[in-house]
Amino acid sequence: MAGHNFLFVPGPSNVPNRIQRAMMVPMEDHRSPKFPELTLAVISGLKKIFRTQKGTPIIFPSSGTGCWEAALTNCLNPGDTVLASRFGQFSHLWVDMCERLGFKVQLIEVEWGEGAPPDLYQAALGADKEHKIKAVLVCQNETATGVASDVNAIRRAMDAVKHPALLFVDAVSGLGCIDFRMDDWNVDVCVSGSQKGLMLPAGMGITCVSEKALAARQNATQPRCYFDYLDMVKNNAQGYFPYTPSIPMLYGLKEALAVIEEEGLDNILARHTYLANGVRAAVQKGWGLQLCAKDAKWYSDAVSAIVVPEGFNAAQVIERAYKRYNLSLGAGLSKVAGKVFRIGHLGDLNELMLMGAIAGAEMAMLDMGIPVKAGSGVAAASEYWRNNQPKVAA
Ligand SMILES: *Cc1c(COP(=O)(O)O)cnc(C)c1O
Repeated sequence: MAGHNFLFVPGPSNVPNRIQRAMMVPMEDHRSPKFPELTLAVISGLKKIFRTQKGTPIIFPSSGTGCWEAALTNCLNPGDTVLASRFGQFSHLWVDMCERLGFKVQLIEVEWGEGAPPDLYQAALGADKEHKIKAVLVCQNETATGVASDVNAIRRAMDAVKHPALLFVDAVSGLGCIDFRMDDWNVDVCVSGSQKGLMLPAGMGITCVSEKALAARQNATQPRCYFDYLDMVKNNAQGYFPYTPSIPMLYGLKEALAVIEEEGLDNILARHTYLANGVRAAVQKGWGLQLCAKDAKWYSDAVSAIVVPEGFNAAQVIERAYKRYNLSLGAGLSKVAGKVFRIGHLGDLNELMLMGAIAGAEMAMLDMGIPVKAGSGVAAASEYWRNNQPKVAA
């Protein structure tokens, strides 16, 4: 097929050419005297992305899911209770993992399309006078529904009732796209991965742990081995890894950090908001459709889940877009399968790339008989982008 595939799933995201090129390297000895230069450079670069001085970034050769497991097995004791909310496939999967590892989950069920409710977290923590809850879990950007939650509000809820639990945040699809502040929000473990905002292939679990989390690791007795923070921290301090790291991925990460540094993290976050606003204009003003996110305060600047009208199957729109227009849209997962398709707007993107996704989604919807006005999505996005600029937060 001529031309290239338009990749608009919310991860893996587009890998910029210069990052791909940086990964084309011969293999080398990961125990050489020179190797620490690379390790130490990427670890210190990651601190800026997590906005931390006190925290310790750790890179596991896994995907983001491995870092979910690392958080649970390093910081908790067998059978401990965690407090979590569920409002989409990813928040669900983390809860499912907790249960499969034998932890008790005190669950806050939230309608899909809404986010983590600080008031309900505070009520649950306030009622836990014996401090049985050892960790509080929050999914910052629920990629399945396009919902972003206010992590700092959850931290304030914990502080309001002086609860000592650890705060674990899933920022797999948020890091590098949506504001995240490890130190300011006193996050204990931030879980992320390489293939979303960091513009790399999948294959690296990227996490950051607080001093409190590392202290918890000293006494926590849940079995762990491959994902032990301490093996990593000890080796990383010398610039090495406890086992063979993926060398191309480390060079790719170094380049990705350079790309981020050049644009500036604040500018990147502002660009994500600006691009997301254009997509939302296409969906709402142009097509007259609804987002899965129920309220503007939940809108994600990394991904939009678009609800197709009653009587239509979103899976057919996605299939049509792929087969006819070589456009990859994100599928509806689990509860929202067939009801939504998703446009990922995270990572290395600009207006005209997104115009391709908007035009293609519109063509596929028209082909499936969905009554949107031809050209309306592109017109609304164009109107927004022509008249606005990214606004960098002060
Ligand atoms: C992608 C994603 C995950 C899973 O990450 P993998 O890298 O696929 O293991 C977890 N949480 C969220 C919010 C995600 O978007």
